[in-house]
Amino acid sequence: MSDGGGPDPVGTLRARLAAAEERIGRQRAVVDGIVASVRGENVDDEHDPEGATLAWERQQAAALLAEAERERDALRAALGRVEAGTYGVCEVCGRAIPAGRLEARPAATRCVEHAR
Ligand SMILES: [Zn+2]
Repeated sequence: MSDGGGPDPVGTLRARLAAAEERIGRQRAVVDGIVASVRGENVDDEHDPEGATLAWERQQAAALLAEAERERDALRAALGRVEAGTYGVCEVCGRAIPAGRLEARPAATRCVEHAR
């Protein structure tokens, strides 16, 4: 690939993507495990305190799973932008996103000014 002097983001993005995918797999197993145990014990969410705990745990696990999936999608999109040659460019103002910010958040699509 090009040797323009700046750090190559692809390695970082791929490593983070692999980590996110691993987290998704693990988190899916957790969610499935909780679902299975809820079914197995045939608990009543509303009246059984253990059922309520399991429901809460399932919700937390599902939230973590969704977060990992969002991260995976963002990283895939970032890799796509590398290929398209638009990686590291703010999607709002079109200026370069500072290297420090990309180091902290490799999938960032906006500069600090337009981050929200
Ligand atoms: Zn911007």
